[in-house]
Amino acid sequence: MSGVTMMKCACETCLCVVSVADAIKKGDKYYCSQGCAEGHKTIKGCGHSGCGC
Ligand SMILES: [Zn+2]
Ligand SMILES: [Zn+2]
Ligand SMILES: [Zn+2]
Repeated sequence: MSGVTMMKCACETCLCVVSVADAIKKGDKYYCSQGCAEGHKTIKGCGHSGCGC
């Protein structure tokens, strides 16, 4: 009975949609990967093809 909430990754150039349960939460934002969560300061891309981040 878990309604899985899907959120778009909060990284602007990222197109990924992640479930809130799997996302990396930072503040009130949800990210698909460590790279997105840290703002791509040290990690480029998100590991998913088709994303421009
Ligand atoms: Zn992505
Ligand atoms: Zn992302
Ligand atoms: Zn990203």
